Amino acid sequence: MAFPQVEAFRGGENLIRVVGHRGARGVLPENSMIGFDFSLSIDVPLLEFDVVLTADDVPVITHNHRLHAPTFRDTTGRFLAGEEPKVSSLTVEQIQQFDIGRLDGQSAYGRRFPDQAQLDGIRVPTLMNLLELVESPKYGNACLMLELKSDPDLAHDASHRQKFVKCVLQELRAKSMSSRAVLHSFDWNLLEECQHQAPDMPSSYLTQLPDNSDDVGEDSSKAVCPDFRGRRDEIPVLVKEAGGSLWCPYFADVTAENVALAKELGLCVAVWTVNEHDDICRMIELGVDAIVSDYPGRVQRHLSDLGIRWRTAH
Ligand code: MG
Repeated sequence: MAFPQVEAFRGGENLIRVVGHRGARGVLPENSMIGFDFSLSIDVPLLEFDVVLTADDVPVITHNHRLHAPTFRDTTGRFLAGEEPKVSSLTVEQIQQFDIGRLDGQSAYGRRFPDQAQLDGIRVPTLMNLLELVESPKYGNACLMLELKSDPDLAHDASHRQKFVKCVLQELRAKSMSSRAVLHSFDWNLLEECQHQAPDMPSSYLTQLPDNSDDVGEDSSKAVCPDFRGRRDEIPVLVKEAGGSLWCPYFADVTAENVALAKELGLCVAVWTVNEHDDICRMIELGVDAIVSDYPGRVQRHLSDLGIRWRTAH
């Protein structure tokens, strides 16, 4: 089945796509409306973001299953201390009382993004908030790489999976966004459920080999991702067999061979999260379809210097 949104992520002759990771985490608060709006306004219409379900079954855009202490401040302006509450234990109203506009510079996580603008009054958006933004005619070319985050505590709970996928699809369909989103996850069981409930939408398979290190200070999804140790170059075949349209490997896991194999199979290859200059250059040389980055402007700059486009002509 051909999906128009998959083509929006596909590169080509002199064309590599740029995807804004959590909006543009390197320069603006992650998974925030201002970050998404920024990416869209710099001609990066492809947005990656993370969706988790609240206690009142509202899909909200945040990365971790627990409120992430280095990015969440309470009503007194202090970063969270002690045990982080689970997103699934709070209502959307409770979650939106926290401010996610700044990073705790004392934390290892905060130190990773020294250039991020620090803002006040920034709230966790709902999925609906973002759908309403991209519904605007000026962002009619925007496409969503919607990551469904699997709670490792519930990864084996089929009824939770069904409910999670149902809640996300309801909102996409209510806003007629089925043809502008790809359903993206590390959890292959969850993607199977997506294909079951939404055969009209493409699946995007995230992978990370267990031998590569995790990013500092954030939840890893390795626990819900199949273990591909020793099978690196087979992964594209497995993604294809599972019904995938996109393969989204951790950038350190790709080789000339597995990228070529994925392309032969018709998969679109979108690598994450590529922030350093040398890594961006290597991904361009490998000819991936799309580069997911916290610094979409930095990737644009590399492409521009090489005379490579990141979008087809308007
Ligand atoms: Mg993500």
